[in-house]
Amino acid sequence: MNMRIKILGSASGMPTLGKHGACVWINFADKNILLDCGEGTSKQMLRNKLDKNVIDAIAISHYHPDHVIGLFMVLQMLYLQNRKKSITVYLPEKIDEFEKILNYFYTFPLRCTYELNLALTSEINKDYKQITVIPSDHLHNLKNFIDEYKFSNELLSYSFLVNENGKHFLYTSDIWHTDYFKEYLGYLDLLIIDALHPEAREIISVSSNTKARIILTHGISQELEKIIFSSNDNNKFEVADENLEIHI
Ligand SMILES: [Zn+2]
Ligand SMILES: [Zn+2]
Repeated sequence: MNMRIKILGSASGMPTLGKHGACVWINFADKNILLDCGEGTSKQMLRNKLDKNVIDAIAISHYHPDHVIGLFMVLQMLYLQNRKKSITVYLPEKIDEFEKILNYFYTFPLRCTYELNLALTSEINKDYKQITVIPSDHLHNLKNFIDEYKFSNELLSYSFLVNENGKHFLYTSDIWHTDYFKEYLGYLDLLIIDALHPEAREIISVSSNTKARIILTHGISQELEKIIFSSNDNNKFEVADENLEIHI
């Protein structure tokens, strides 16, 4: 076994009973990393017996609340559990600003029981050679708005490609289009894909270009649901199951 993967949170931005906010737990080479940290991640860590020292790092794809809001409770939980081991949190942009937010929330990194390192998601490959980030255009539709009000948001959002011992896994996080990761489809073993935002025909077309196991997460668009559950395409897709542990 090269990698263990579990979707701890499969809901979209709309809070959903029975589902948690976006989070994927990956385990490889004795390392445990959370990709995204939506609402309910702390409870999912407890449920999955992820002891205070198990998680080595948390990487956030982008700053939409459904991908990051659980971080505050996870950091507070690790403090209350008296964690001593350092942890690195990879953030898509604005590290210094984020540290200020932690201070506003009285989650002072300087008072943590553990060393809290903040780094850029784009640099995670320096620490974990298995993980490559792929920038996506998920936030680009906000550019005019950001420019008009002169906000400082950098509109950065990433997908994560993980490669361990020749096994490849891609977690898209939120995306509008699928073409920017087409080049990887040929050798993917597992694809966990946002099934809410892209047009249904794009997701169907992905399935004909890869042998990967495809898991739909982040909810599912009505259009896609209608197509795949009323056709022969339904055997190409699985819907995310927060109880399922995947080995590749
Ligand atoms: Zn989202
Ligand atoms: Zn988003």
